[in-house]
Amino acid sequence: MRIGIYGGTFDPIHKGHLAAAKTVIEMLALDRLLLIPAAIPPHKALQEKSAATEHRLAMTRLGAESMMKKEVEVSDIEMRRSGPSYTVDTLRELKEEYPDAELWLLMGTDMIESFLRWREPAEILRLAGICAFGRSAEDTEKSLALHGEKLKALVPEARLKILTLPNLVEVSSTMVREGLAAGEAEEYLVPAVYGYILRHGLYDTAADLKKLDMETLRCIAMSYLKARRIPHVLGTEETAVHLAEKYGADETAARQAALLHDCTKRLSMEEQLELCRHYGIELDELEKDALKLLHAKTGAAIAADVFGMSEEVVSAIRWHTTGKADMTVLEKVIYLADFTEPNRDFPGVEELRKACERDLDEALQMGFEMTVEEMKEWGNPVHEKTLEALAYLKGQKI
Ligand code: ATP
Repeated sequence: MRIGIYGGTFDPIHKGHLAAAKTVIEMLALDRLLLIPAAIPPHKALQEKSAATEHRLAMTRLGAESMMKKEVEVSDIEMRRSGPSYTVDTLRELKEEYPDAELWLLMGTDMIESFLRWREPAEILRLAGICAFGRSAEDTEKSLALHGEKLKALVPEARLKILTLPNLVEVSSTMVREGLAAGEAEEYLVPAVYGYILRHGLYDTAADLKKLDMETLRCIAMSYLKARRIPHVLGTEETAVHLAEKYGADETAARQAALLHDCTKRLSMEEQLELCRHYGIELDELEKDALKLLHAKTGAAIAADVFGMSEEVVSAIRWHTTGKADMTVLEKVIYLADFTEPNRDFPGVEELRKACERDLDEALQMGFEMTVEEMKEWGNPVHEKTLEALAYLKGQKI
């Protein structure tokens, strides 16, 4: 197995890091690439405006997920150790964990330049190959090779690979931190990382989360999601807008509710329950052990508390999983958009989509019936609110 190790401060992770990671996976044919944020970087001091360790780790995770590559993993190995995060210690640990693996240490120009001043450089060269790449057009393979020769002089059997990144993004985290404070630099970040920064007010960004424009809210919504869920949420937004226009709900409210409807979906049961305690959310018997049901309530609480969403938006999020009797048009729109957005694929989805085009209540009833049927198949209880919703719709027709 060939493992790449890409360490850094990642304060924050930017498109330059991600482009380099993508190229190196391909060029070195890596089976795995570990992104390792340093707890206490020994090679450069953390800046005054640095993000806290847990934020750097969370942003690195979001950046890594955005690559959608199975090889990429984020490791908190250095964050679990105390003291400065020496690369040699990390490599020793990894060598123990993967004794048969071929390790490759990835680094940009600034790192290979300072390499001989690191702790135990010769030992590092024995433990891992060095894959170095330029960070700007001026860093040629020739100039990097000069540094490579010095490493060879230290350990003649050192493995060296010098690459030119075809997709080089000339940016540094320093540029990003400074740009963000001035309201720039978004272009160097993947949306989820940008959203995360704004959500937590990192690097002196002071966005008013209760007055966000739609584009910014979209980035922030992405920062809550696993990357693979992003297409679903954007699809829900698209379908919600279409249904809102068709059936006379407010377009802005439809977008807001769609974007935030799954904002707590990635949280663990423990984290969900912590939010429930925080917001005084009461749970019924079914919700106590059904993560899927809980996220609607916690998501609604976040939408109200953190983003100051209107009551109609909060309520649409609140009822998007179970539905309820006598729903508003927006509640129906979000329920059905979540159910039928273009990425959904299950038996009957086309029928349901057609029903959405004919009549909102007909589609809603069909949706509830499908849910009841599915729960029966799996042997799961159906939430009473769904049964009430169904009974209400049937009663309405009589
Ligand atoms: P800062 O500006 O805070 O010093 P940075 O942008 O150099 O941060 P680090 O997290 O310190 O980012 O870098 C981690 C690794 O990524 C280093 O090996 C660095 O050389 C490399 N690297 C950083 N930016 C780029 C880039 N734009 N292209 C290629 N490699 C990069």
